[in-house]
Amino acid sequence: MRNLFLFFFLLLTTTLYAQQREPEKVSVILKWFYQYQFAGIIMAKEKGFYEDAGLDVEIIERDPSKNNILQVIDGEAQYGIADSSILTYRAKGHPVRIVASIFQHNAMVLIARKDSDIVSPYEMRGKRISYQEGIDDAIFSSMFDYANLEKSDFIKVPMDFSYESIINGEVDVIAAYITDQPYWIKKRGVELNVINPLSYGIDLYGDILFTTEKEIASHPKRVKKMKAATLKGWEYALAHKDETIRTIIDKYKPALTYDQLAYEAATTERLIAPKHVALGYTSKDRFRVIAGLYHDLGLSQQALDKAVEEIIYDPDAPGDTLQFYLTAFTIGGAVMFIFLLLLYLHNQQLQRQVKTRTKELEKATLRAEKAAASKAQFLANMSHEIRTPMNAILGFIEQLAKGENDPARQKQFAIVKSSGRTLLGIINDILDFSKIESGKMSIECQPALTRDLFEEITALFKEQIEEKELLLETLFAPKLPECITTDAIRVKQVVFNLLGNAVKFTPKGGRIILEVRFRPDTNILHCSVRDTGIGIHETNIAKIFKAFEQEDHTTTRKFGGTGLGLAISSKLITLMGGTLEVESNPGEGSHFYFDLPAEPCEAHAPEALTQQALSGDTALAPQGDLLVVEDNKTNQMLLGIILDEFGIAYDIANDGLEAYSAAQRKHYAMILMDENMPNMNGIDATKKIRAWEEEHHLSRVPIVAVTANALSGDRERFIDAGMDDYLAKPFSETEVMQLLQRHL
Ligand code: ADP
Repeated sequence: MRNLFLFFFLLLTTTLYAQQREPEKVSVILKWFYQYQFAGIIMAKEKGFYEDAGLDVEIIERDPSKNNILQVIDGEAQYGIADSSILTYRAKGHPVRIVASIFQHNAMVLIARKDSDIVSPYEMRGKRISYQEGIDDAIFSSMFDYANLEKSDFIKVPMDFSYESIINGEVDVIAAYITDQPYWIKKRGVELNVINPLSYGIDLYGDILFTTEKEIASHPKRVKKMKAATLKGWEYALAHKDETIRTIIDKYKPALTYDQLAYEAATTERLIAPKHVALGYTSKDRFRVIAGLYHDLGLSQQALDKAVEEIIYDPDAPGDTLQFYLTAFTIGGAVMFIFLLLLYLHNQQLQRQVKTRTKELEKATLRAEKAAASKAQFLANMSHEIRTPMNAILGFIEQLAKGENDPARQKQFAIVKSSGRTLLGIINDILDFSKIESGKMSIECQPALTRDLFEEITALFKEQIEEKELLLETLFAPKLPECITTDAIRVKQVVFNLLGNAVKFTPKGGRIILEVRFRPDTNILHCSVRDTGIGIHETNIAKIFKAFEQEDHTTTRKFGGTGLGLAISSKLITLMGGTLEVESNPGEGSHFYFDLPAEPCEAHAPEALTQQALSGDTALAPQGDLLVVEDNKTNQMLLGIILDEFGIAYDIANDGLEAYSAAQRKHYAMILMDENMPNMNGIDATKKIRAWEEEHHLSRVPIVAVTANALSGDRERFIDAGMDDYLAKPFSETEVMQLLQRHL
């Protein structure tokens, strides 16, 4: 765009510059051939007056076969030389203007041989007279009038420019240009009488420099310069006749001698009359008189009067000033137009840019979406890949610890187990955080037993609390609904984190209070965790909700942790429609609390019952064997050990396909189905088993997904496929037991 502006700027400036420097080409058509009659124009060119004015003037000789005035009117040249008859053109509607009247008197005269005794119009009756009709009529008709000579009173002979006719005596009277022809004829030895109209008071203008309205309108400055330079040329020509004559001879090569031109120069000066009238001056009053002559020839007085008023060019006339403004306005308009055009083009370019940028943005968004999708997939895979070996590690440690009687070794197993659990917690936190960040975390609300939800969590801290000699009080408000609809897993996760922190940051002998209330008018569940621990400094309160931030760096060294817990908790609460808040002072303990929208529900909801904690000592009495579907040999072994422990018989299927055929052969009390397996995955195997059961009108065998996939939406996928429950890897012996109790 800038380049475009620059281009136009350069174009504009170079055009203006060129207009100033490059001479403007104009042409002037003469009234006759190169001779002294046009000395002013010739010298203006030769002496560089035109050039100084920025004009390159071409001087064109008259073509006698053409009307030189009409040639200018038709645009063959911008300027021309005419005489007073130019007024008749204007009166007839041709847009001509007089720039400068050079010859104050007309040079046209009638000549007769001296021996003819014709000395005045009075002697011309019945004689043969030759002059240019339509051109020289005005001047001669007026003179004839003077002597009452009618056109029918003489014989009109066509004009003979060679003048042989007068020399030979074929005509009696012929029109001639006083400045040159008489000289030439006299040279041939013929003596002449000159009958000059001026003697009869008929005084017309001779050579006039004229132009057109168009030239004045489009180049007002040029007309002004043309006039000034031409007059300067005449001034020079009149002051330097000899140089002028030589210049004409040398440069224009007329078939004229020096003497002839000298004769012409002398007679010309008389017609220009520079001593009496300012060079180039045009008198409107004189033109009024001249208009009278033309009226006599039949032109309308009104048209002539109008022509007289309009024909004289005045460089300082307001009309031309107006023209100047008009031109300025036009130029302004053009500049404005160019500007608007540029603006339009710029706008177009912007629109194109916006389009391409939008396209690029769309592409980038698509790429980002793809990246997010592959990140989510990566998370799912990682989740699976890490949880599967963790399952084996934790499971076997549990088994190994059981057979160990040495207290020192038992302690070591306990350390490995708790380290494994911590590692699992960290992995879960990182995965959760990534899920929230990529918008993949969704909230799944199900009916849940309110008290159980919280008690399940407090139970997990039993050991730690005892160890630290802490006092944990759980206060349930009396009007707490038995069942609420909420995402129990996520609420538990938050409460687990808050209680975990409270336990972690409260020194030995401290107190922790978990309080749960419910507002039935707004259906808001209020939960708060208070401790008498180390507290948090005011300036760090905002920091602790940010990912990977802890109150200060000493915390990490002293208490450990990733700084993700509160960030995840706060985001989960926000996702569920609440806010996690804190009030704390260093040394005075901390108070974390949140309000959540939660609908009360019927306590018998089937989903809620699955959450129900069952007492550990209920005997397991399966009506039949279990089928363990698992491709991973280690996990097969682990599940086997646990089931052996419970005295439950089981078969093993290595993939979905084997599971399907096994289920057809034998009616199992329950199927533990892994999800990702070769040949046929758990979901497809479940679907096939369900279809087969339906086909044969058999009762549904409980199918429990055993999965390391814990991303949101998975649960629905399992239920949709026809599964009844799921066990997340890594699982503990207790979790397996609780699961069996639920379904057997
Ligand atoms: P982590 O505990 O894993 O470092 P959290 O996000 O759960 O990460 O907590 C961030 C920080 O907030 C903690 O490191 C600690 O400095 C501060 N904090 C959280 N809970 C408490 C509490 N109950 N008492 C004192 N400080 C706390």
